[in-house]
Amino acid sequence: MSIFSPNLAVKSVLELSRERLTELGLDALLLDVDCTLKEYRSEDVLPEVRDWIDELRAAGVGLCLVSNGLGKRIGRLAEKLDLPYIAAACKPLPFGLRSAVRKMDFDRTRTAMVGDQLFADILAAHLAGIFSILVEPISPEQEPWFTRAKRPLERGLAGGRGET
Ligand SMILES: [Mg+2]
Repeated sequence: MSIFSPNLAVKSVLELSRERLTELGLDALLLDVDCTLKEYRSEDVLPEVRDWIDELRAAGVGLCLVSNGLGKRIGRLAEKLDLPYIAAACKPLPFGLRSAVRKMDFDRTRTAMVGDQLFADILAAHLAGIFSILVEPISPEQEPWFTRAKRPLERGLAGGRGET
């Protein structure tokens, strides 16, 4: 398995129910924000994603946003969602993920990083020694050119989607 291969690939975070996470041995998630929880240009997460967050929180799953976005924007969203966050995380470097795990007192072996980018989220998870879950990006056509430019290469590296 390469460092760009996610441990699990799903279409959307909505597939990650409490039951599914329990089966996977997970009780905490580090969540990428842009194109994972919301459309790139939107200020808000999709309503169904909001419900998913509320359900997992109520079920006792640990949650923390870990984004490369800047503090002001990510902080505003985190406040709306009532979630802790690490902004300017510099993924694919592992430090943001590690500090989220420490700050939240999560068990690293029962935590997964969930995100849409192999070169950021999945690589960071591998480097931090955390289970990685790849989701398909929400509205990738809204992304800036430098993210879109990486997508074909990422698809090539990922091969087929599905569980690995
Ligand atoms: Mg993203």
